Amino acid sequence: MNRILFEPEEAEGGEVVLTGERARHVRDVLRVAPGARLRLGEIGGARHDAAELLSVGPDECRVRLGPSLPPLPRAPVDLLRALPRPKCLRRLWPQLGALGPGRIYLTAAEKVEKDYWGSTFLRPEVYRPLLLDGLAQAGDTRLPEIELHRRLKPLVQDVLAARYEPARRLLAHPPEPDGAGEGGRPLPAPDPAAPTLVAVGPEGGWSDFELRLFEDAGFRRISLGPRILRTDTAVVALLALLSGTADSV
Ligand code: SAM
Repeated sequence: MNRILFEPEEAEGGEVVLTGERARHVRDVLRVAPGARLRLGEIGGARHDAAELLSVGPDECRVRLGPSLPPLPRAPVDLLRALPRPKCLRRLWPQLGALGPGRIYLTAAEKVEKDYWGSTFLRPEVYRPLLLDGLAQAGDTRLPEIELHRRLKPLVQDVLAARYEPARRLLAHPPEPDGAGEGGRPLPAPDPAAPTLVAVGPEGGWSDFELRLFEDAGFRRISLGPRILRTDTAVVALLALLSGTADSV
């Protein structure tokens, strides 16, 4: 936990009382005494890098927040992901929280089983804490926006074409066995004013119909080279590559 997060309503008079797992973390993992500096963050709001620990009790710790810093900048990349099976989705949420995409679209695809839509990991009350784990790991405070789309075609044709510049609509697809699509043009340089959207397929890949659908809507195929990666590996690699590094925090 590289930042201890709190809900806005937990702050009062410039102080926060940490309870539960967060208090245990201060007491048993950080093992710090009153007067120590801690990194705190308001969920959806400011970072406090010089918060002061005021007291440590058996069940709670009191902290003075001190000066505020703005939230970390959003990674200039959004993700479209064919809905993974529940076990993979559970693993994906903290990774997404840590990598910081602004918006995540979870969509249907031909090779996505319909019963995945019944997964508890699609419920905000279940995935929010998993995203928060990722934010705490990365030291971030802002949650990504999540959209669920059970119909891929209207999403691609009507919504995404209006939201993203043509050069910033990317379709991740491994090169064909004959080598077609290997390499390709370079990825667009990260631009915080114009996020790039990258679409990552299900474990079985995008169907020919879906590849045409994306390409007719102006998406450009990109590849990470000839190695076919597991979908969660491809997501992490693509988000990292398309995020670049933010120079002002
Ligand atoms: N047999 C499937 C195919 O050929 O599409 C493999 C799918 S791969 C396990 C799942 C998804 O991860 C792909 O749809 C793609 O979005 C992404 N992916 C995996 N390896 C990739 C690579 N080398 N380049 C680009 N995308 C890749």
